[in-house]
Amino acid sequence: MKERHRKRVQLNLQFAKFPFIKRLQEFDYTAQPGIDRRLIEELATLRFLSEGRNTVFLGPPGVGKTMLAIALTTMVAEAGHRVYFTTAVDLATKLSKSIERNQLHRQLNMLMQPKVLLIDEVGYLQLDRTQASLLFQVICNRYERNQPIILTSNKAFGEWATVFAEDAVMASAALDRLLHRSTVVNIRGDSYRLREKRKSGSESAAPQK
Ligand code: ADP
Ligand code: MG
Repeated sequence: MKERHRKRVQLNLQFAKFPFIKRLQEFDYTAQPGIDRRLIEELATLRFLSEGRNTVFLGPPGVGKTMLAIALTTMVAEAGHRVYFTTAVDLATKLSKSIERNQLHRQLNMLMQPKVLLIDEVGYLQLDRTQASLLFQVICNRYERNQPIILTSNKAFGEWATVFAEDAVMASAALDRLLHRSTVVNIRGDSYRLREKRKSGSESAAPQK
């Protein structure tokens, strides 16, 4: 039984297509004092799965949004569920290509299968109207069947019209569904990447003893 679970987790992690693996234990809370640790720990109980709650990580680049989203989604995979990672642009591009091949329905169906769909980098790149409406469809479909989405974005909700090809009506309809049952984690701190860079910069500049 244990061996079966191990194999299952291995397959789940292969299927997930994570760009990297990160663990929640690796997250340095002291580097991001503004973050609500209890909220992250509540998410780590995975109660959001049965509640069909979405999770949205918001904040500027480098603050750990993708890391936390991947760490959380990895826990879901390890609990035995299928999960899938994609960026918003890859998702939209794949779907719009599937229209040409007459496989949209199939692709949309596929995106319903994983227990958690992680959509990374919503708002980094502009979507055209078709792409925006495809992303919208995915959000609607999963909402209707209580299938959680974990999403990261650098755009505040007020700016989401730009995410949805300047269509404010579609943007607010998407947000309505996304936020109806959701946990929003706002990260306002400094970029961890730049912090690391500054650290190594000051070390190398320090006088040698
Ligand atoms: P974002 O998605 O918000 O742009 P990432 O999650 O990609 O940021 O984080 C940038 C890099 O910094 C990654 O390598 C990530 O693992 C690391 N990182 C960010 N925040 C933390 C943190 N609080 N503790 C440890 N590593 C972090
Ligand atoms: Mg990111």
